[in-house]
Amino acid sequence: MHGDKQQPGPKTLTILLPGGSLPFGVLRKIDELGTKFAFDLYLSTAQNLRLYNIEESVLPVIKEELTRLGLKLKGPGLFPVPRICIGKRSCNLGQIDTMDFSEKILARFGAMTGVKPKFKIAVAACPAACSNPVMTDIGIIATRQGFDIYLGGKGGSQPKAGKRVMRGADEEQVLKVISEVVAYHNQSPAKKQRIGKLLDDPNFPYRDEV
Ligand code: SF4
Repeated sequence: MHGDKQQPGPKTLTILLPGGSLPFGVLRKIDELGTKFAFDLYLSTAQNLRLYNIEESVLPVIKEELTRLGLKLKGPGLFPVPRICIGKRSCNLGQIDTMDFSEKILARFGAMTGVKPKFKIAVAACPAACSNPVMTDIGIIATRQGFDIYLGGKGGSQPKAGKRVMRGADEEQVLKVISEVVAYHNQSPAKKQRIGKLLDDPNFPYRDEV
């Protein structure tokens, strides 16, 4: 989903929900604020929670209440929260605990600022790939032999499947690939750049399909 561009009129806020996890305490607070300030809710395809139709005058109060709960709000320059399938916590095909792996990714990269926009990460716990990793800029699929990593996938009007650049990787290798690809993406000259456009650069670190 595209960003929360604040136009004149009612405002929006997007709460980042790692792994699409919505704790009951947060749910109760949203219910309380929604009842008081009459905004609407949308569960985004990126597994975040968008509050929209917020009256401008109450926006600071809502922001303060949400950040006091420890919630992170969507904003420019943040590292993307991985979109994940439910994984082995609730699917018997899952090879990994995707929530746990998403937390590891965010523990390593979540504090980054100034991250260039236009890339997403998706993790699936088995080759059924329910979180659509192959069509995502950085896609990770757990298999019985380790992680397969895809780069450069995208949806939109000209969808493209990502290129598989590694098979059977372990967690540390996945984190290394993410680190190198994000660093390369960040130093690329265009302001916004899909990773798929970088795959053929002579210095791109993962050029070969495997
Ligand atoms: S990708 Fe596999 S493990 Fe994840 S929800 Fe789909 S079937 Fe289950």
